[in-house]
Amino acid sequence: MRAFLVSSAIGLALVFASSANAAHRYRVAVDPEHRWVDVQAQPEDPSGGLHARNGDPGKLAMLAGCADPGSSEQAVEPPVLRGGRIVLPPGVSCITYRYPLEQMARRGQADLRPRVMVSSPSSWLWLPEAPGTQTQVELVAPGMAVSVPWPRFEDGYRITDSPESSTSVAVFGEFNQRDINVAGGTLRVAFLDSAQARLDIDKTSRWLEITAGDITSVYGRMPNPQPQVLVWAVDGRGRSSGSPIPFGNVIRDTGESVQFFVRPDPPLTAYLADWTATHEFAHLLLPYVRSDQKWISEGFAGYYQNVLLARRGVYTHEQVWKRLLRSFAQAQAIRNPPSPNGTADRSFWEMRMLIYWSGAAVALHADTRLREMSAGAESLDSVLGRLQACCLPSRQVWSGEALFSKLDTLTEYPVFMDLYREFSDRNGMPSTDKLMDALGVKGDAETVLFDDDARLAWIRRALMATPDDAG
Ligand SMILES: [Zn+2]
Repeated sequence: MRAFLVSSAIGLALVFASSANAAHRYRVAVDPEHRWVDVQAQPEDPSGGLHARNGDPGKLAMLAGCADPGSSEQAVEPPVLRGGRIVLPPGVSCITYRYPLEQMARRGQADLRPRVMVSSPSSWLWLPEAPGTQTQVELVAPGMAVSVPWPRFEDGYRITDSPESSTSVAVFGEFNQRDINVAGGTLRVAFLDSAQARLDIDKTSRWLEITAGDITSVYGRMPNPQPQVLVWAVDGRGRSSGSPIPFGNVIRDTGESVQFFVRPDPPLTAYLADWTATHEFAHLLLPYVRSDQKWISEGFAGYYQNVLLARRGVYTHEQVWKRLLRSFAQAQAIRNPPSPNGTADRSFWEMRMLIYWSGAAVALHADTRLREMSAGAESLDSVLGRLQACCLPSRQVWSGEALFSKLDTLTEYPVFMDLYREFSDRNGMPSTDKLMDALGVKGDAETVLFDDDARLAWIRRALMATPDDAG
């Protein structure tokens, strides 16, 4: 009996050890002069070979097999390249290679920032293609600042599958970085000056904190507890108008990253009046949706950018409804429009208003129906909060149908698939005329009047109030 207990205890310990270590182990060492990165890869199961989405094995130097770091064995057979992958021969459990960061950057990067190395791990981090597994990364970068999309884990980082929506960015070198704490998370921010433009760290941080706060007000926390945030200074001199944040986007590749291009000169008030950051952070409220159904991700972000700026008091209620009516009208003006699902077959530029605002109209319908059916107990905010709890950050690419079906399982008031069936394959903008009547919104982009006797006037007011105001 005693012997049995001992062996079962050992058995348990082994099971525990193997699940705790169910990760590929990587060591990434960045040269202090940023000329190269040395990688040691020890996949848990080396039989499938290693793959890098934008990798060219011909660019790797010193590719060699290594003995198990735990053993004293020396020479091992070299890995081979086969079909764009690195294949480990039998008995080889780890490999090492060097990737020439500097040489590759000079080829691809026009605006070289002094003492800063920008690269994409998708070019140099060769990973096993084993869905559902995890890669533990030890990063050695002595004396330099580091910004990577990978979530922090213990003393290093942990990479899981991701939708690979576009190409990840890693930055090494001399730049300012700051962790900004927000409800339920930390923005891991890199401030990247250019040769001509320097960011004001305090002003930029305040702007990020407040705009991320727009998102945490939706259900009390960030959808992703530790997004990488890249702020690139752009030269705005000579421009008297235009957004202080000319561009932003979200990258979901080995982690979730939000990237902004920012003119350093405008005052904080100008940053805070701009919708770009609220829009980009709002993308994190949904998982990555297939690129041919951009109308869903852009639409929900467009809806929330308006709602949240109204809730923060940047837009008055009149202004926010004028903005929505104007955008809906512009999308409606497209001649011979396809359905929202059909927009991907047409020119993005010509379809952009329909792509951005058809999904926003669906979001407005969903939010209104949820509040109406639940007498105010439920909203798009509360359902998205449950989506976060079950499924975000997500490792997968979602279809619109999968997302809307999932949302319906998260509420007693399923409205999403009905809306999907009603609008996703019907040509043109989802109609909002009856909806606007019920909400008591009358008028157009120029003049808007509110009818407080309208049946759902209480929902019109609640949509633009923070959950605290409404309570
Ligand atoms: Zn967007």
